[in-house]
Amino acid sequence: MTRRGIPFVVSGPSGAGKTSIERQVVAADPALALSVSHTTRAARPGERNGEDYWFVDEAEFRRLIEAKCFLEWAEYQASLYGTSREAVEGPTGRGIDLILEVEVQGARQLRERLPGAVFVFVLPPSAAVLEQRLRGRASEGEDAIAKRLARAEQEVREVLRYDYVIVNEDLEGAAEDLRRVIGAVRLERPRVVPELRDRFDFP
Ligand code: 5GP
Repeated sequence: MTRRGIPFVVSGPSGAGKTSIERQVVAADPALALSVSHTTRAARPGERNGEDYWFVDEAEFRRLIEAKCFLEWAEYQASLYGTSREAVEGPTGRGIDLILEVEVQGARQLRERLPGAVFVFVLPPSAAVLEQRLRGRASEGEDAIAKRLARAEQEVREVLRYDYVIVNEDLEGAAEDLRRVIGAVRLERPRVVPELRDRFDFP
């Protein structure tokens, strides 16, 4: 029997650096992959269908909701995002550990629907740095910026529901932290002992 992969759910406010951290860790670990979500937002330059996301229109997304294809889904910044059952069950069924980058509403749903999942929250170094990053991103009006700041503040409060917290002072350090979390979780006794039953005479 092959071991099932472990789902790692990673959330954190926009601007915390989640994606860069995850990419760095996944690139160096062949037993780890990034889950590919569905979204109705437009692809950004360089993003590829089936790699970064499955890019679908809203009608198709709604059809997938009706067909119960999603483990979780949420609306975020006027677009829909969802994790399909297939995106999780495919890799984990083959024993690959999986990072699901999901905003906080989706993570709430996964807490009930993905037993054994581990929840990791990524924070920027401080609220002031977060504000700086969110302000500095684009040439937007005060309204859009204020909205983004308010949402980030709300997202940060969700940290209390997570198992692990990584403060992203710098990419290398934060990636190392995520690597260590994943390494420790892989060694949790209830995950390891069942694998050893054919080698030891455990009670
Ligand atoms: P972006 O559009 O910048 O790629 O992602 C926007 C937000 O959507 C991020 O917080 C990201 O974590 C979240 N997100 C990406 N995929 C999913 C998903 O499948 N489900 C949910 N609930 N959120 C997602």
